[in-house]
Amino acid sequence: MQGVSKSFGHLKVLDNIDLTLKAGSVTAILGPSGSGKSTLLRTINHLERVDSGFISVDGELVGYDQRGTTLYELKEKDILKRRAGIGMVFQSFNLFPHLTVLENLIEAPITVSGLSRSDAILVAQDLLARVGLSDKINAYPRQLSGGQQQRVAIARALALKPKVLLFDEPTSALDPELVGEVLDVIKELASTGTTLVIVTHEIGFAREVADTVVFMEGGRILEIDTPDRIFTNAAHPRTCEFLAKVL
Ligand code: ADP
Ligand code: MG
Repeated sequence: MQGVSKSFGHLKVLDNIDLTLKAGSVTAILGPSGSGKSTLLRTINHLERVDSGFISVDGELVGYDQRGTTLYELKEKDILKRRAGIGMVFQSFNLFPHLTVLENLIEAPITVSGLSRSDAILVAQDLLARVGLSDKINAYPRQLSGGQQQRVAIARALALKPKVLLFDEPTSALDPELVGEVLDVIKELASTGTTLVIVTHEIGFAREVADTVVFMEGGRILEIDTPDRIFTNAAHPRTCEFLAKVL
């Protein structure tokens, strides 16, 4: 991301963000509520348009290009294709409630990636095994716990083989005893080299799994460093204040 800014009305929610993330890296984004963390993720995934600056993922332009590319004139279908390369997992799971787990998993691979139904089912079976939910393949979301729903949501995001997977507070809506099972799945993804960006308040998890920590406030990146340095020796006083409150 280079020079990315975004306002809602008079409120500048992203203020000249520069951020480079390496393939295979795991980045945790921390910051107080309202600091722009969700908006940052949403711009990467074509859910928000930026006002200026540009974003590219693996060389493919996502955000507005100052050089005049009219990216936002892309057809909805092309946006869907590009979005398919960028998985997103939300706080609220966002599974299709009227579809079974299997149907949730095969819908996008069939409609967006053009997989045959039988190939999509094979992929779905693999992914469900990976998140430990093979026995829930025919269940409906309402029959699953929050932790199980979130693991299905992660499997669904993986079904499109994304270049990067974005998590927006993936465990914030979960009962405390269900947080661990979701973090374990994310940890496993991290260990296999999937590029991950995770907005989280789980400091212990960020410290253990992330290789980069970004601290945001007021639409800006105040600090970006290794977890070791951020958590023991943050350079910015606002980072220290924030960490003192959440630790
Ligand atoms: P965070 O995820 O760090 O809590 P957000 O990115 O959700 O922050 O929001 C940053 C600011 O932008 C907040 O003040 C929020 O109210 C505002 N905001 C977010 N989305 C919209 C929107 N669609 N319209 C107007 N204001 C918004
Ligand atoms: Mg948010």
